[in-house]
Amino acid sequence: MDLVKIVTERSGETIDWFIENGAVFNEEVTQGVGSIAYRAHSSSPDASGLVNKLMKTIEQKADVRYNTAATELIVENGKVVGAKAVQGDGTPLEIKANNVILSCGGFAGNKELVKKYAGEKTENMVYVGSPGTTGEMIEEAVNLGAATIDMEQLFNAPTNSIENKQLITAMVLSNGAIMINQDGKRFCNETGSPNDYFNDILNTGDEYVYEVFDKNVVEKVYKLEEVYMKQGIVEEAATIEELAEKMNVPAETLKQSIEIYNASVNGASDPFGRDIFGEPLQKGPFYFIKVATGYLSTNGGLKIDEYARVLKEDGTIIEGLYAAGDAVGGYRPYAYVCGDANILAAVTGRIAGENASK
Ligand SMILES: Cc1cc2nc3c(=O)[nH]c(=O)nc-3n(C[C@H](O)[C@H](O)[C@H](O)COP(=O)(O)OP(=O)(O)OC[C@H]3O[C@@H](n4cnc5c(N)ncnc54)[C@H](O)[C@@H]3O)c2cc1C
Repeated sequence: MDLVKIVTERSGETIDWFIENGAVFNEEVTQGVGSIAYRAHSSSPDASGLVNKLMKTIEQKADVRYNTAATELIVENGKVVGAKAVQGDGTPLEIKANNVILSCGGFAGNKELVKKYAGEKTENMVYVGSPGTTGEMIEEAVNLGAATIDMEQLFNAPTNSIENKQLITAMVLSNGAIMINQDGKRFCNETGSPNDYFNDILNTGDEYVYEVFDKNVVEKVYKLEEVYMKQGIVEEAATIEELAEKMNVPAETLKQSIEIYNASVNGASDPFGRDIFGEPLQKGPFYFIKVATGYLSTNGGLKIDEYARVLKEDGTIIEGLYAAGDAVGGYRPYAYVCGDANILAAVTGRIAGENASK
């Protein structure tokens, strides 16, 4: 079973389904890092356009328990028939169901589990995902004999603000920012495979590098002005010279790096093979954010079949148990392509829902 094929085949109808259920998308379909095709449907004004409206629709149709943690799967005669949970005030809860879908995300929020599967190298990495993805329900499934796949693979987050340990959206790069090391030089294809530039950043040996951009990029990426600038993690300068001074890099080197990049935007061969550009970097003011590598989720998880049923090592199913999204493995063993994670959660979530409710 090929999860990539399933997601590819059902992504279009899934976006339509989101829109029918209230999600708001930007009109423009753009390029995203890792793919030169114009296929990035981004929600408007940010992820809230996807989640908030959809949750309103769900709340009308289902009993949603917020602030409630599932702790255990209930199994009767070899079939999963519900879950035990604890509510925010400590009240225990037992919910019986014909089937159970695990949509608990990965296990990146659990440092010990990350170290267990991905090794000691993760000790000093920055984690920029949700604190709630603690993986205990994945462990529950494993205890019932579920097979796992790619558990050692982290979902790399190449560019995270060192000021507030937050992922900087890849849209900044795909809309025209460049990355500069502490010598004032570019060092990678900023819109190639995120796994590649993740390693390129690590290989600089610098504690952090800089994302550099201009007013044009700010005008295109909503989050820059509305979120990052308000958080105070964006530095501004009127000229490239002033920018270099604030970055503490040689001004002549930075100027040359930008000139060569602008020539690439205008059609010259890019020294790092970049082929997704915005405008040339020339419209002041100019800006930078200090970034370092980290991870935002895990790529590994439970093995499922084409109906999103959780599989055992021998290929048989665990009756009554389904999984979707980041709880699932075998989809992204190598590299993230912009947007591929939300669509995995959406497509597998729908498949799990369709089958579990039959
Ligand atoms: C900062 C950041 C930026 C991202 N940007 C993008 C992007 O631009 N494009 C893209 O495609 N993807 C992006 N991703 C990845 C994407 O958000 C995830 O792949 C996606 O949210 C996974 O959806 P999910 O529903 O499987 O899991 P999640 O969204 O992780 O949701 C799982 C939920 O289950 C809860 N949970 C866990 N255990 C329990 C339990 N025992 N009981 C009750 N609840 C539990 C968690 O608290 C969490 O709320 C980003 C991720 C991060 C962290």
